[in-house]
Amino acid sequence: MNKLVKSFGAITSLAIAAIAGHFVGDRALNEILPTVGAAGGVVTGPNVEAPDRYIYYPGTEILAKDEIRVTACGTGLPAARRSQAATCFLIEAGNGDKFLFDIGTGSMANLASLMIPYEYLDKVFLSHLHTDHMGDILGLWAGGWTAGRPNALRVWGPSGATPEMGTKHAMEHFLQFVNWDKVTREYKITPIPGQVETTEFDYKVPDQIVFQENGITIRSYPAIHTGDGPVSYMFEYAGMKVFFSGDTVPNKWFIEYGKGVDLAIHESFQSPQQLVDFYNQPPQLAWRACCEFHTSPEAFGKIMSTLKPRHAVAFHFFNEEATRYDIYEGIRATYDGPLSLATDMMVWNITKDKISERMAVSTDDAWSVPGTAQQPPPEKGRPNPMSNDINNGRWIPAFKSQDEMLDRHMKKYNLQELDWRPAMYKELKEN
Ligand SMILES: [Zn+2]
Ligand SMILES: [Zn+2]
Repeated sequence: MNKLVKSFGAITSLAIAAIAGHFVGDRALNEILPTVGAAGGVVTGPNVEAPDRYIYYPGTEILAKDEIRVTACGTGLPAARRSQAATCFLIEAGNGDKFLFDIGTGSMANLASLMIPYEYLDKVFLSHLHTDHMGDILGLWAGGWTAGRPNALRVWGPSGATPEMGTKHAMEHFLQFVNWDKVTREYKITPIPGQVETTEFDYKVPDQIVFQENGITIRSYPAIHTGDGPVSYMFEYAGMKVFFSGDTVPNKWFIEYGKGVDLAIHESFQSPQQLVDFYNQPPQLAWRACCEFHTSPEAFGKIMSTLKPRHAVAFHFFNEEATRYDIYEGIRATYDGPLSLATDMMVWNITKDKISERMAVSTDDAWSVPGTAQQPPPEKGRPNPMSNDINNGRWIPAFKSQDEMLDRHMKKYNLQELDWRPAMYKELKEN
C-alpha cells in the first residue's frame, strides 16, 4: 500500500473527496448504510499499513468469481463540468467481462483513469440517444483504436418510433460523421477496430434478453423520457442483479421488475428550484425537466421504498455542497434504506453477503494499458488518403535531421525499412 500512496500525488485531496462521498446527514453511517463494509479497520501501530478506508485503487483488486463491481464514470448533466461527466457506468463481472452502460460526454477521461486495456472495453449498452448518454463514444472508438484495441466496438441500443430514431441509424451516421477519421486511421493503423457492430432491439418489449454470454444476461425494459426509444437495463450475474434506469420518469416496468434487486441505479434529477437557481432554467422548464421527463428526489425515494433494493444509487445531478442536502432530504422524505448519492468515480462491490461503496483513487495522468491481444498490421492495398501533391510538400531537411534517431529506433526493434523514407528522399534528389 505504501508504494501506491507514493505514486498518487493527489492522495490527500482525493481522500477527502472520497470521504465527502459518504454523505450521512445527521444519521450514523451504519444506520443508513448497514451493508457498507469496506471502510475502516484498526491501525494497529505507528508503523503499519492502514486498512482500506473508502478507497479503491484501480488495477489492484481481483474480483471474486461471484462478485460484481460497478464504477460510476459519469453521473452528471449534459452541461459540462470538470468534476462530473455525463452518464456512464462500468459494470465488471467476476468472470472478467466488462460492460459500459452509457458513455456520456466527458466520461472517457474517468474510464481511462481506470487503466483497463481497451480490448476489454468493447461492449457498450446505450439507454437512449441523448448525447449526455452517448457523446464519448467518439473517445472510446478513436482513443481505444489508437491505444491498441484490436477488436471492433459492439454497441447495443433501442430502436425508435421510426428507423431514423433508432440506435442503428445513429451508429451508421456516427460512422459517416467520423468518416475522415475512420478512413485515415484505417490506412495508417489497421481497419478492424474502426468498425462498429450495432445490435438494435425493440424498445417496447419489457424483460427482453438483449445479451447472453458467459453467464451474464442483460435485459431491457421500456423507459419513459422525452420520446419513444429509451430503455432501462437489468444486468444479471452469479444470481445478483443490477438495475440501471437510464433516463426515465417513475414507470411501471422498473417497479414490476426491480423488486429486491441487489443494486438499483436510478436517476434522481435536480429539484426545480435548483434548476432555476443554478442551471438558469425558466421556472416552467425547471419543473418539467425535474419532474415531467426526469425523476425528482421524492419520486426516486418512493420507487426505492417500494422496490427495497439491497442498495439504491441516485445519479444525474450535480452533487455538491449547494445541492446534495436538498436532494438527500427529498429522497429521505420517502425512503430510509441504503443509499448512495453518486458522484464520479464512486465504486460499488456486490457479493451475496455485502455491498460496499468506495471512491476510486486514480491518476490524472493515465496512459492506456496493453492487454494480451495484438492489433493486426495495416492492411495492404488500401488506397492512400493522401495525394502526392500534398505528400511531396514535406520539408525534407527536418526529416533528414531525425534519420539517426530513427535508425536507432529501427535497429532496437529490428524493423524493416518502410517505403516512405526512400520514396521521400528520391523526391529530395529530384528537387
Ligand atoms: Zn436523456
Ligand atoms: Zn440524461
